[in-house]
Amino acid sequence: MARYSGPVCKLCRREGEKLFLKGERCYSPKCAIEKRAYPPGQHGRMAQWSRSRSSDYGTQLRAKQKARRVYGVLERQFRRYYRQAVKARGLTGLTMLQILETRLDNVIYRMGFASSRAQARQLVTHGHFTVNDRRTDVPSMLVKPGDVIQVREGSRGKTLIKDLMAMAEERNVPDWITRNLKDMSGAIVRLPERPEIDANLNEQLIVEYYSR
Ligand code: SF4
Repeated sequence: MARYSGPVCKLCRREGEKLFLKGERCYSPKCAIEKRAYPPGQHGRMAQWSRSRSSDYGTQLRAKQKARRVYGVLERQFRRYYRQAVKARGLTGLTMLQILETRLDNVIYRMGFASSRAQARQLVTHGHFTVNDRRTDVPSMLVKPGDVIQVREGSRGKTLIKDLMAMAEERNVPDWITRNLKDMSGAIVRLPERPEIDANLNEQLIVEYYSR
C-alpha cells in the first residue's frame, strides 16, 4: 500500500508545528521543530510561517495538507474519504474526520499500542493484529463500533510487543475506545465526537478546499 516515504520531520517544519509523526522523539529535544524552527528548503530561514498573507486557497490547502500528514494518508485516498463523507449523512467535515479516526492504524495508535500512527501502520502490515479474531494486514481498514482489535496470539510474546504494551500503560485512551491491556485488546464503543479529535485540524477549510 502506498505511503509517504520522504523525510517526516520536514512535514512538521512545513506546517510550522509539531504533528507528532515520530513517537517518542517528538517529545524530546531532538525534535526538528525545536532545533530548526523555520520551514525546510534553501530559503526556509527567510520564509515566514505566518499565514497573514495567504490567500483563501493557500489557507485551505495548508489545512488539508496538515490533516493528510497527521493521518499519513496520500492525496488520492484522502480525496476518496472526502467523497465518502459527502455521500454520508451529517456534517461532511466531521464525518471525514471520523472516517480518518476509524482507520485501523489510527485506532491502534489511539489505544496506545503504538507510539505513532506510522508505527501502528507497520505493526498492522507485519500482521501483528486481528480485527474480530481475523488477522489483517491492511492499516487503512475502517473499523466500526463493536469491532474488537487485538494483538495476534503469535505476536504476544515478542519483545517489541511487550515493550509497547508496557508503554501503553502510561497512555490514556479516549472515551470512544476501551482497552484491555491484559489480553492486549481494545474495542470501539462509538464514533468519536468532535471534541475528542485533534482541535488543531480545521475540517471546514478542508471541505472548502475540495468543494472549490
Ligand atoms: Fe514532527 Fe516529531 Fe519530527 Fe518533531 S520529531 S518535527 S514533532 S515528526
